[in-house]
Amino acid sequence: MTTAQLVDRRRFYINGGWVEPTRSHDVEVIDPSTEQPCAVISYGTAADTDAAVAAAKAVFPAWSATPVEDRIELIERLLEIYKRRADEMAEAISLEMGAPIEMAKASQVTTGSWHIKNFIRELKAFDFDRPLSDHAPGDRILYEPVGVCALITPWNWPMNQVTLKVVPALGVGCTVVLKPSEVAPLSSALFAEMIDEAGFPAGVFNLVNGDGPGVGTQLSGHPDIDMVSFTGSTRAGVAITKNSAESVKRVALELGGKGANIIFADADAKAVTRGVRHCFNNSGQSCNAPTRMLVERSMYDAAVETAKKVAEQTAVDLAAHEGRHIGPVVSEVQYNKIQGLIAKGEVEGARLVAGGTGKPEGHEHGYFVRPTVFADVSPEMTIAKEEIFGPVLSIMPFDTEEEAVAIANDTAYGLTNYVQTTDVDRAHRIARLLRSGMVQMNGEPQGAGAPFGGYGQSGNGREGGVWGIEEFCEVKSVTGW
Ligand code: NAD
Repeated sequence: MTTAQLVDRRRFYINGGWVEPTRSHDVEVIDPSTEQPCAVISYGTAADTDAAVAAAKAVFPAWSATPVEDRIELIERLLEIYKRRADEMAEAISLEMGAPIEMAKASQVTTGSWHIKNFIRELKAFDFDRPLSDHAPGDRILYEPVGVCALITPWNWPMNQVTLKVVPALGVGCTVVLKPSEVAPLSSALFAEMIDEAGFPAGVFNLVNGDGPGVGTQLSGHPDIDMVSFTGSTRAGVAITKNSAESVKRVALELGGKGANIIFADADAKAVTRGVRHCFNNSGQSCNAPTRMLVERSMYDAAVETAKKVAEQTAVDLAAHEGRHIGPVVSEVQYNKIQGLIAKGEVEGARLVAGGTGKPEGHEHGYFVRPTVFADVSPEMTIAKEEIFGPVLSIMPFDTEEEAVAIANDTAYGLTNYVQTTDVDRAHRIARLLRSGMVQMNGEPQGAGAPFGGYGQSGNGREGGVWGIEEFCEVKSVTGW
């Protein structure tokens, strides 16, 4: 395919319109199922970034003064459009990052509509202007928008991340510049079309494509950006924090994870199967994936056997094919990183029970990884410590509750941990002991409005619900009201 035949997403969305880059810097988007280019984008220059920031800054006073009801009305219109164009969105996500089309429709796209809907409800209930308390009747607390926000997002759950940031930011009256992942920029371009169609005023939402060293760094260091909301790797989170420090920006970070899934012998019969499937979902490319399975010794051998079967039954296929398989991983870089970590697992002495290095049979092209299970993993091994971001599960045994908690907490991360037990007292006890922003018990997903975020090197932000709204607000205290 020549560049002329590729989907052309070279323009940026700045100040209410699609504009040409100030200087041509074409980069191809690669379809991970075929390793072939499928679209072309442009990386912005500092002049493009400046134009987007200037547009967001100029409209901030007017937008932040708009009644919240008007902003909610626009978000409601956005939700209608997002739902109407859901199939287009699923195709964009599936193409850019390799989510199988059925999964893209059922999960990737719907996380976006779910967040938009939930934020509409939260914004309607949020009290932006409230008394402090009865003991100080003249004290007033005002929640006000932080200002101009840079939103920097990853490729693994593109619309999940974009809606978790754009919707609350615009809802509270901030204006934004979105820089989506350069690896998966197509869904965000479509999202910008939806914002345009919904009729948001020019300048409140802007999109510039680029990579971390380019537009990402320009944004985190920009004097007119008040806040950076970032989701991605811990490495980039550190770089952004350092670069933002000079101008004392607020920085909200949603970073990586290495979730433990503690399975006790009294867990429900489906716990192991559920845990393996969850680990492999989205080809293992979720920050909250339960990648370390800790199993009580009395059921350890049976659990390893079950995990092996589930891995061997996990089909791998092209993203465009219908069905409940897993797709490729996102890029050559990720593919090579995962291969290296699987090889390291073997070298360091873990027992490979399913999968391994190399491509699955029949998939010589595309970044396909074999669903892989290691048993007898010990906490000091690299595969027990590093975020692999591929369909690779590490299983290890434990003898006591204390030992399980100690292993689970022995990580620099702290995003989601999982507990499988039918003993309610134990479940509650362990939930308090785990050092993570989220604990998921017995496969129960989080409800609408629950906060998403981590401890330690998993970041400092909380997205979703009332927390996700407060994240984009300044708190003003006024006396003598
Ligand atoms: P990444 O850090 O490489 O890139 C994420 C985004 O940051 C991209 O838009 C990239 O261009 C930009 N970026 C990279 N370096 C930058 C820099 N120095 N300055 C400014 N911007 C920079 O991450 P990725 O590979 O796209 O995504 C995978 C990572 O995201 C994993 O570690 C995963 O755990 C994490 N993640 C976390 C959450 C969460 O909510 N905690 C959710 C999804 C993904």
